[in-house]
Amino acid sequence: MSENKSTKKFLKNPIKGTKYTIMVSSAKGGVGKSTFAVNLAFALKNLGKKIGILDADIYGPSLSKLIGKNEKPKSEDGKFLIPLDSEGIQCMSMGFLIEETTPMIWRGPMVISAIKTLVEKVLWKDLDFIIVDMPPGTGDTQLTFAQDIKIDGAIIISTPQDMALLDVKRGIQMFDKTGINIIGLVDNMSFFKGDDGKNYNIFGEGGVEQTAKEFSKEFLGKIPLHQDLRIASDKGIPLTESNPEHEISKIFKEIAEKIVKKFI
Ligand code: ADP
Repeated sequence: MSENKSTKKFLKNPIKGTKYTIMVSSAKGGVGKSTFAVNLAFALKNLGKKIGILDADIYGPSLSKLIGKNEKPKSEDGKFLIPLDSEGIQCMSMGFLIEETTPMIWRGPMVISAIKTLVEKVLWKDLDFIIVDMPPGTGDTQLTFAQDIKIDGAIIISTPQDMALLDVKRGIQMFDKTGINIIGLVDNMSFFKGDDGKNYNIFGEGGVEQTAKEFSKEFLGKIPLHQDLRIASDKGIPLTESNPEHEISKIFKEIAEKIVKKFI
């Protein structure tokens, strides 16, 4: 590695107030990335960890809907924002700062400066992990994080169909190229269990696990398509919070335990 590159790596700023920063990423929209990020955050909290959620999707923030909270964050000194509290989890999103229905018609530099505000001007406090819910794809937000912010690991969420997997492969290569450690891949909407007790592989079978193998990445688990997860999200109380004993919450718990083991 050239001296410049190693100097740059050294200069990456950790997010203040947290021990570890974990990105939750997907190559495509609509694969359940935000749902995963929020449920994982609550599963980690249930393991006794102090957690923050940073919704870094500037164009399509969804955190306020998922935690059922949308207040303007306060600031005591006029410089730093205080994250909103959701059951002990510290939360920040562009959605708290603008009206819910306002479209963000911004060019790249404005997105970069908004990301920097969310990272540098928020008073995160005593956190073990910040879970960063990234926008889909490989755009300005990803680059800003990759170049300027110390990331301890990324989790890639995908559904198992070929169309989504092609983009996952691009995502893996982007992280590898930018030196971000990939913690592992998660297969969401993996299958649907019918009333007849049979599993239906609506989006195909095994593709995410296969991709993980192909790129020598860890496969973290399968989350089935389950109505209760969607209903809980729509109600604004994540399933891992409202019903930690639910079969789906137990899968999140297993993934959360794997993450804790890797870092703490
Ligand atoms: P993304 O962040 O990738 O755009 P979302 O998390 O917003 O996707 O999820 C898209 C929709 O799918 C939401 O309505 C969410 O409740 C639903 N959803 C996500 N994962 C599941 C799942 N495993 N089972 C059922 N519904 C899901």
